[in-house]
Amino acid sequence: MVCVVPTCGNSARGRTGQTALPGNKTDEETKTIMTVRFPHSVDFIITARCNLFCKVCWGWEMPPYRPLSTEERAGLFDRLLPYNIDQIVFTGGEPLLDDALPALLAHAHQNFRTFLFTNTMLFPDMHAALLPHVDRLSFSLDGDTAELNAAARAPGHFEKVLESIRIIRDSPHRPRLQILTVVTRQNHCHLQGIGGLLLERCGGILSRWKLNFCRDMGRYHKEFALPYDTFAEAAEDTKAAFRGRLRIRYSLNQHDDAYLFAFPDGNLYTPEGRAYRPVGNILDPRTYDAAKLSTIAEKIEQRDRLLAEQEQR
Ligand code: SF4
Repeated sequence: MVCVVPTCGNSARGRTGQTALPGNKTDEETKTIMTVRFPHSVDFIITARCNLFCKVCWGWEMPPYRPLSTEERAGLFDRLLPYNIDQIVFTGGEPLLDDALPALLAHAHQNFRTFLFTNTMLFPDMHAALLPHVDRLSFSLDGDTAELNAAARAPGHFEKVLESIRIIRDSPHRPRLQILTVVTRQNHCHLQGIGGLLLERCGGILSRWKLNFCRDMGRYHKEFALPYDTFAEAAEDTKAAFRGRLRIRYSLNQHDDAYLFAFPDGNLYTPEGRAYRPVGNILDPRTYDAAKLSTIAEKIEQRDRLLAEQEQR
């Protein structure tokens, strides 16, 4: 359950005015900071655990990790301060299953824009502790009826998403809201129904509707997958139907590997096909694969530029 969006004006330094180099650095660390280029956005896997069993999930094959304490995990954000990162994405698994999430969000929010992905099952109970520290929020919704949505997600999920949308509408803390739909064989003919539901339920609070291609990584992929051309055609038709009413963007047929994932033990990975390739650990900058990190940063910039252009068309 991952997605990256373009940068906005809340740069890491702009939020607090802090210096970028906290603490005493060794010469080697300073050299690393000067030579390593990170992407503007890093996806933190807060936990690999989840309370759903979505059939379109591709998170089954995550590498194992040994979590650090809450303080140590908050310290991971501090160690990223010098690298011109402006956004931390909180994802999983389901991030709300981690009791440390409110503290981690609050800590990261001091210096970074925060973007929280959730399946919403726990959101109605936890929103008050989370929303003050969230700039962007993403909910998943794969159908315009409970039945269609449950085909990819689970019974009860549809109702939780609608309840969570209501909470955002009524909240004094209103992050930019994205709805993410994984387009499948089952729902690609219902996208206009889903769009209509979003217009009705979200009103002016919806920032973007993201249509995701069903990647060839999930356990049930074959049951749900569409050819990319069919996906793109359905997405274009949907964009045309809602032009001027909903901002819509959809997965490109490339750049699926344009992500940098940080795990709860500080290990960094980028996806390569069905595997995760290690690119270092935040706790030890000497382990950074500078060439690979730079390539990931370039890919993410290129992908975000293409997606922004696509959204304007
Ligand atoms: S909520 Fe996200 S992480 Fe959990 S099973 Fe569904 S797609 Fe996977």
